[in-house]
Amino acid sequence: MSYTIINPATGEEMETVEHATVEETDDAIARAKSAQKKWAALNPFDRAEALRAFARAVEDDVETLALLEVRNSGHPIEQARWEATHVRNVLDYYSAAPERLLGKQIPVAGGIDVTFNDPLGVVGVITPWNFPMTIASWGFVPALAAGNAVVLKPAEWTPLTSLRLGELATQAGLPDGLFQVIAGRGSVVGDRFITHPDVRKVVFTGSTEVGKRVMKGAADQIKRVTLELGGKSANIVFADADVEKAAATAPYSVFENAGQDCCARSRILVQRSVLDSFMERFETAVKNVVVDDPTKDSTEVGPLVHRTHLESVSAYLDKADIAFRGSAPEGPGNWFAPTVALSRGLNDPCMTEEIFGPIVTVHPFDDEADAVEIANATEFGLSGSIWTRDVGRALRVSRAVESGNLSVNSHSSVRYNTPFGGFKQSGLGRELGPDAPLHFTEEKNVFIPAD
Ligand code: NAD
Repeated sequence: MSYTIINPATGEEMETVEHATVEETDDAIARAKSAQKKWAALNPFDRAEALRAFARAVEDDVETLALLEVRNSGHPIEQARWEATHVRNVLDYYSAAPERLLGKQIPVAGGIDVTFNDPLGVVGVITPWNFPMTIASWGFVPALAAGNAVVLKPAEWTPLTSLRLGELATQAGLPDGLFQVIAGRGSVVGDRFITHPDVRKVVFTGSTEVGKRVMKGAADQIKRVTLELGGKSANIVFADADVEKAAATAPYSVFENAGQDCCARSRILVQRSVLDSFMERFETAVKNVVVDDPTKDSTEVGPLVHRTHLESVSAYLDKADIAFRGSAPEGPGNWFAPTVALSRGLNDPCMTEEIFGPIVTVHPFDDEADAVEIANATEFGLSGSIWTRDVGRALRVSRAVESGNLSVNSHSSVRYNTPFGGFKQSGLGRELGPDAPLHFTEEKNVFIPAD
């Protein structure tokens, strides 16, 4: 089986990628198992040095990785450079971890009690197509740093940068079999990660629907899972906010990466008394968003990743009450202009479903309690923004919104040094931040008597 990659900006065929079979997946897992034992036995300093060498290899390859992502995923070149550099940063950050997995010494009677953070073994990482290399790194880097081996399966549409990262790991001198990237179908390679007993943890990032299937499958072996799933985040604008700044920045909180972002603030909740002034400014900002050829430095938003996805996003145009749209190129490529819809109520599909494209829905609210209730009226809970000049309100609303990642008077993107993950059906577990390597270990407790 193979899959032909199509450049989403031009519609041209790029290359064909071979898909692994179940037998090839089993071989990769066996090699990973053997590599992991040697890796875990290494001096922590040597593991740290290997990760630092990997970071340097990525650093030297930023431009190649970025250009691959432009052609494979349609990401604007500046954004793709940021993504490749982010992978380098994640490697640098967690290269300190092998020498800092400290464990604890716990006061007990009659002896000493210590804990060890043992690696799990082989970890399977399954990634989506929207941010292929950054999301992969959030799984494979802390897993390696904690002494595990990793087998990574990228999404069918966007495997190229992940495959390149696999080559860079080899070039950097990581032990053979320790970090393998295998292209393949979710139902074949991804499913095998779930059923294979030697894969001790699966990190899955993707749709909530497939995430539920992964969780059910993992139950058979009580396999550890981290799930990073969908979102329908709210950008809440209070009347006391800097409405001008809120309106000017709102397009970039939802249309970046063509809205194919799990953290997209795809519902904008605006206090009724400032709705008109917000909408007027927001329209100007949306019309200024530069949707264009992703190879240009000036481009802010590229095409959608795939024709099938363009069709699924376009289907919402018939269901939406459209207020205004920005612009997009015409011709070949999966182009879609940024689109602003007015809410038809809390059950409007544009208010409840993760469209995962450049469509945002605006809904008015009356007071703080109303804003919180609407923000929480979703099965998801991943991200969100709160715009207000009242510090007390910022604090109250941040505590009340059921979501893993909030920002006040800003739309912060993911930082490698802070935890990231979802409430409710947006996921299970956390990635990134100082504790991420611990999520790839078992805590072992040992008591040694004094006599
Ligand atoms: P998807 O669920 O269709 O696929 C994700 C991955 O799962 C792919 O690699 C796919 O091949 C694999 N897969 C499919 N079926 C499988 C199976 N039966 N067993 C194992 N693996 C299987 O998601 P997508 O369309 O690639 O990505 C978009 C979704 O990802 C959106 O819902 C988005 O919100 C979510 N996402 C979440 C985060 C987060 O951090 N919370 C980040 C990015 C994307």
